[in-house]
Amino acid sequence: MLRFIGALIRPYRGTLVIILLAMLIETIMSLATPWPLKIILDNVVGNHKMAPWLHHLLGPVLESGSRLQVAAVAALLYVFISTLGAIASYIDNYYTESVGQWVAHDLRMRMYSHLQRLSLGYYNTHQTGTILSTLTTDIQTIQGFASSSTLSILVDMLTIVCMLGLMFWLNWDFTLIALAVTPFLLLFVSRFKKSVKTATKEVRRDQAQIVAVVQQGLESMQVVKAFGQERTEEDLLAVVSHATVAAALKARSVKALLSPVVTVTVAACTALVLWRGAALILAGSMTIGSLTVYLAYLSRFFKPVKDLATTTNAIAQVAVGAERVREILDTDTIIPEKPDGLEPTTLQGAIELQHVAFGYDPAIPILTDISFTIKPGEFVGIVGPTGSGKSTVVSLLPRFYDVQSGEVLIDGHNVRDYKLKPLRDQIGYVLQETILFRGTILENIAFGRPQATKEEVIAAAKLANADEFISRMPLGYDTLVGERGSTLSGGQRQRIGIARVMVRNSPILLLDEPTAALDSESEKLVIDALEKLMKGKTVIAIAHRLSTIRDANQIIVIDGGVVAEDGTHDQLIARNGIYAELHRTQFDSGSNKEPT
Ligand code: ADP
Ligand code: MG
Repeated sequence: MLRFIGALIRPYRGTLVIILLAMLIETIMSLATPWPLKIILDNVVGNHKMAPWLHHLLGPVLESGSRLQVAAVAALLYVFISTLGAIASYIDNYYTESVGQWVAHDLRMRMYSHLQRLSLGYYNTHQTGTILSTLTTDIQTIQGFASSSTLSILVDMLTIVCMLGLMFWLNWDFTLIALAVTPFLLLFVSRFKKSVKTATKEVRRDQAQIVAVVQQGLESMQVVKAFGQERTEEDLLAVVSHATVAAALKARSVKALLSPVVTVTVAACTALVLWRGAALILAGSMTIGSLTVYLAYLSRFFKPVKDLATTTNAIAQVAVGAERVREILDTDTIIPEKPDGLEPTTLQGAIELQHVAFGYDPAIPILTDISFTIKPGEFVGIVGPTGSGKSTVVSLLPRFYDVQSGEVLIDGHNVRDYKLKPLRDQIGYVLQETILFRGTILENIAFGRPQATKEEVIAAAKLANADEFISRMPLGYDTLVGERGSTLSGGQRQRIGIARVMVRNSPILLLDEPTAALDSESEKLVIDALEKLMKGKTVIAIAHRLSTIRDANQIIVIDGGVVAEDGTHDQLIARNGIYAELHRTQFDSGSNKEPT
């Protein structure tokens, strides 16, 4: 984990050096704070000889002036020490915050750009809410730690070492007595560390689960209301929320003990120091000033120890956060891209599948042996029972998934030989449901090709039969669309989806039941728009209504993971197989009247 954090803060080395220097000055100043008091007690009020180094520093004042002048110098020294410490603390906090923020920014960007590259398969198996929670909360934890805590651990340790050094220098056997209780404290801190780490891990997992539950519930609000499942949703949250509380409370007894244990330990040490110190002062082997320094250090000595304990808490949280972030960053379900891949500018649109086998889970094959050939400019229909894998076949062309065996060829090259983005740029995709983004209609259409001008967008919308309803809206193309397009009707969304593909003007067009969810009136408008879109392109249309692919150059029937039949409409009717049967069911039901 430290290596991971180290890599994150490496770009900010320069600033870290400043922070470290500021922290060192803070430490030195905090070590120096009790010394002016010692001077006053021992050399102004008392009659002790000054230590040689101190004499060297204050000698002139001592020789020429009165004791009160020495007191004044000591008092000034105190102000100086405190001010310097305060300035250092300002610099420390100022830069710590900025390093933390930028580290979080870097990590956020790195994670999101990784998430953009992960294959769709990843999202089939991972909850959006959990990912969201890592992207926000876990990064926030790391942010707090990355800059401040790593350094403050160093500084705390340094403070402890320096204090011990000074204390031993003042009076070594006395120091041993003073610190007699410390091992118990250290034992306790290490016990604290262990239980906090376990609890933190559980808490974070449950917190992520809370986000996941809420995110899913809010997203499906309409269904929840329609089925009156508000209570079920609340209960779902109650379960995970309870789990979080239980996990967080697990470490509570140890956590709550931390501060009292430190207080009692400090009191015990202080008592020893007071008792033994009094004896030493009476015996004349220690000054009152030294005892004061001891007392001051003792209370300070346990602050870093206590800090180390709380930092342990922070470290546990960060370790867990870093683990969760790395889990995502280390996922490599990225669709591999050849570095010297082909970058087609315009494809002809020849498509060929050779003995393709594929399953989302390799153990459960969906497609076992699919082969077909489509010539450039052809219009091909795909039909088959629901769940037979029609959408799956089509999603192999833009490489949303890679095949397990066999080959997918476009213009004679395996799709793996192309660079991903140029390949996908050549493909237009209209799905059963068009997903729109929160934003204006203009932005939503231009999503197909961000560099498109407003004129091009309007031209596309006109061809897609969308201009008419868009212009009727008060703000026209600048109308804001609700999340997922919730403020538009299904037919309107589809026509925007078609306009989006229209501005893209790609030579290959994939239509996955684009009219399946529409009423017959919208369907007419959408079909009319699609006919314009299809001109001059290689089109694969998954048809839910057979009448829409009647004129196709070729109709492929997929069933049982293989191509069960293929041919033109007339050939397949004559064959009297699956297609003919499907055809009969559809036209007998009377939903589609068509002369035969
Ligand atoms: P069709 O479009 O012919 O109705 P699909 O290609 O959508 O069928 O689905 C074929 C099979 O693959 C179905 O059994 C479905 O349950 C499964 N499937 C579809 N999408 C996924 C996915 N993202 N992850 C796992 N299984 C899937
Ligand atoms: Mg489908």
